[in-house]
Amino acid sequence: MSEAHTYHGQCHCGAVQYDVSTALDGMGDCNCSRCRRVGWVLQSAPAGQFTLLSGADNLTSYRFNTENIEHLFCKTCGIESFARGGDGKGNAMVMINVNCLEPAIAVDRSMIKHWDGANW
Ligand SMILES: [Zn+2]
Repeated sequence: MSEAHTYHGQCHCGAVQYDVSTALDGMGDCNCSRCRRVGWVLQSAPAGQFTLLSGADNLTSYRFNTENIEHLFCKTCGIESFARGGDGKGNAMVMINVNCLEPAIAVDRSMIKHWDGANW
């Protein structure tokens, strides 16, 4: 999964749909107060490699703590299939929820890096 590939992602009800071109070579999870509740697997990609195909008007935005990350979840089904943020150098990034890719991919859990967001 280290080669770049175009993946399709969507929320549960299908209102929110996107394509993203990325390698799944930096998958991570996070133990911060929000991520541990969501239980998502993240992969960051430059915003230019992400195309929101539908559902822009069906997203609710949520920010907390430093408010650097815009968590976006579907108003209908509540699933956060991606978030928007930055890389700290001024570049716009997206964080896709690998668990929302369709068709589902087999995630090699041994490849997931554990981000200690709770103590960041
Ligand atoms: Zn939905």
